[in-house]
Amino acid sequence: MKYTVITGASSGIGYESALAFAARGKNLIIAARRMEELDTLKSKVAEINADLDVVIRTVDLSVTANVYEFYESLRKYQIETWINNAGFGNFASVGEQNLNKIESMLHLNIEALTILSSLYVRDYAQVAGTQIINVSSGGGYLIVADAVTYCATKFYVSAFTEGLAQELKGNGASLQAKVLAPAATETEFAKRALDLDDIQYEGVIPKYHTAKEMAGFMLELYDSDKVVGIVDGETYEFQLKDPIYPYVTRTR
Ligand code: NAP
Repeated sequence: MKYTVITGASSGIGYESALAFAARGKNLIIAARRMEELDTLKSKVAEINADLDVVIRTVDLSVTANVYEFYESLRKYQIETWINNAGFGNFASVGEQNLNKIESMLHLNIEALTILSSLYVRDYAQVAGTQIINVSSGGGYLIVADAVTYCATKFYVSAFTEGLAQELKGNGASLQAKVLAPAATETEFAKRALDLDDIQYEGVIPKYHTAKEMAGFMLELYDSDKVVGIVDGETYEFQLKDPIYPYVTRTR
C-alpha cells in the first residue's frame, strides 16, 4: 500500500487536496492540530472511496521535537508523495509584528518543512514514482507590503525546493521535488494572518481562487514534469514552469 502525506489537511488547500488525491485512489496520511476536522475529512474520503486507508496524525508542527516524532511515526508506511502544505501568514509591519506568532511561523513554514523534506529525501530519493511538493506562495517570488516576514519564509520555501529539485536531478535521483505557489485562495489563511474570527472573500478580495481550484492546480503540478506551479498574481492564471531562481553547480 502506498500513501500520500498532506500536512495542514484540516482546512483550505490541504483539505481539498486530500479529497482530490482520494478521488485519484490514493491512500492518505493527513496531519494538522485539529482532530475533528481531520475526522470529518476521513469520513468524506470514505464517501468517495471506502477502500482507501486514511491515517490521521494530530500534531503541532511548529514544535521541533514533534516534527521528528511525526516522521518517525510514519516509518511503517510506504510514502509515494509528501506534501508540506501546513503554513500560515501574518500581516503587519516588521516593527509591529507579534514575535511569538512570528517564531511559530518561522518554525512551521521553514524549520518543519526543511526537516520533513530532508528526512523524506534521505529515505526516498531513489524510489521510483515519488514526489515531494512544498507549498510556497506568489509571495515566495514577490515581496508583498505588510507581509515581509511571511514572504521571506516563502522565498525560503521556493529557493529550498527549487534547489532541491536541481540537486535531485543532478544526482540522477528518482524523487521529484516541486513548488506550488498559490496567490490569494479562499481558506482560513486570511483570518489567521489578520487574527480575525472570520473574513469575507466574496465582494471584498478582488481576485482569488477557491481551495478546490487550488487542489486542481496541485494535481496539474503533480501530473507534470515541471518544478514550479505558480498562479500569476495579475491574471490568476495557473502556470507550470521550470525553476525560476538562478542555480549554479559548484566546481570542486
Ligand atoms: P488554512 O486554511 O489556514 O490551512 C492551513 C493548514 O495548516 C491547516 O490545516 C492548519 O491546521 C495547518 N496548521 C497551521 N498551523 C499548524 C501547526 N502548528 N502544526 C500543524 N499544522 C498546522 O490556509 P491555506 O490557505 O489552506 O494554507 C495552506 C498553505 O498555502 C500554507 O502554506 C499557506 O502559506 C499557503 N498559501 C495560502 C494562500 C492563501 O491565500 N490562502 C496563498 C499562498 C500560499 P490546524 O490549525 O488544524 O493545525
